[in-house]
Amino acid sequence: MSGCAIPHPLPGIALKHSKASQNRSATHDRRCRLPVARLQGALMAKSGRLIWVKSVLAAIPIYCMMADGLPPWARAEIDAVCRRFLWCGKDGDVRGRCMVAWKTCTRPKELGGLGIPDFKLVNMAFEAKWLWLQSTDTSRAWSELPLKQSVEARDFFRASTRTIVGNGRGTLFWLDSWIDGVSIRTLAPTLLKFVPKRIANRLTVAEALPDRHWVRTIGGGVTAPATVEYLCLWHAVNGITLNANQDRMIWRWTSDGGFTVQSAYRALHLDSHPIPGCVRVWTSDGGFTVQSAYRALHLDSHPIPGCVRVWEVWAPLRVKLFLWLAIRRRQWTADRRRRHGLDVHSACYLCDQQDETIDHIIVECPFARQLWVEVAAALGCHIQEQPAGAIVDWWETWRGLWPSKYAGGADSLFVLIAWELWKERNARCFRGASTHLSAVKDTIKQQAELWIFAGAKSLGRLVQRIG
Ligand SMILES: [Zn+2]
Repeated sequence: MSGCAIPHPLPGIALKHSKASQNRSATHDRRCRLPVARLQGALMAKSGRLIWVKSVLAAIPIYCMMADGLPPWARAEIDAVCRRFLWCGKDGDVRGRCMVAWKTCTRPKELGGLGIPDFKLVNMAFEAKWLWLQSTDTSRAWSELPLKQSVEARDFFRASTRTIVGNGRGTLFWLDSWIDGVSIRTLAPTLLKFVPKRIANRLTVAEALPDRHWVRTIGGGVTAPATVEYLCLWHAVNGITLNANQDRMIWRWTSDGGFTVQSAYRALHLDSHPIPGCVRVWTSDGGFTVQSAYRALHLDSHPIPGCVRVWEVWAPLRVKLFLWLAIRRRQWTADRRRRHGLDVHSACYLCDQQDETIDHIIVECPFARQLWVEVAAALGCHIQEQPAGAIVDWWETWRGLWPSKYAGGADSLFVLIAWELWKERNARCFRGASTHLSAVKDTIKQQAELWIFAGAKSLGRLVQRIG
């Protein structure tokens, strides 16, 4: 495959598919910059660019990675192209215009990101696929050939699989996870240091168990901790007998134990704590699942619940993207502009009284408060408390106002009102146009009808409640 250009039916990234060295970077850069420039991204909405990034710009490198990995520099450059295109729709200097860190954008949606692929992790997930195929399907012509996978990918693969031993011929004694799903690497890490690497990488369970051959592979003067591990291992291995069945490898991240690239990719989002998460699973007793550990490890670094709910609401993508940014407080409101040392009209455009922040515009501004109260009243719901707090807090309160069967509709309505408030603020800020509250209410009504017409069924039920 080396040296051939991957065909690309869509304008995107033409990649030389080879393990190219850094000095090819310049050529590559020029080639992937031009097609993006032709796209007129600046004329697209951010949501449209997001779709482009996910389904075209990211899809082409993933297609390449399915066959063979991309070198880190290529991944970095593709990342840069996607980042510039998403935030600015052009190639070139985009300093100060990226609203959210790229690392956050490349998290899965359920972890608070935008779901853009993280190429490093995608690459590793595909590497794991080759290792999986090599271990489980010996009928492939290449299955005996050495694979050149990164150390990280191998470690991830080992941490993600366990083996049910049959005849022991397909399982590595020292490295695979075969003693109740745990590997000797984990049980006896100190002892493993006394085993020559070349033996550890080859010795199968079938070779190691008869006559305790594995004991003879340990060399050198063994230290006290290693001796303790040796005794534990001796006990652990002692009762194990082999049978005539094939060894069976189980993938930890799917319920049926089969490999999927998607499950590998998701598991890799542990990336800040990949193997430790697994180690804890092995060492703790009961009541602890990998899945829960993985979720827990991520969720406490992202205590912004609304970011996840945004994607479940029925609303046009551009509106959802606006709210996702608003919950993260990344819109260029006065407070943010001031923090970045830009000139500021600090008073709120809607009420001209208080300082402008995104939470103020959407929730606490008298204009917004009145709008929330009036729209709810029009649908037969009377708000007792004044809207207050951050957007997510108010969202939570707002949901509580409606019977649970209208929750979906209430969410859509919430997003719609927030969106119209933001548009009204922008109209006043950029065009000097100001609309009366009742006119904004009318716009919301018209928009809601359009959304219902376009498929917002739950919003339809909420509106029909009044009859
Ligand atoms: Zn205000």
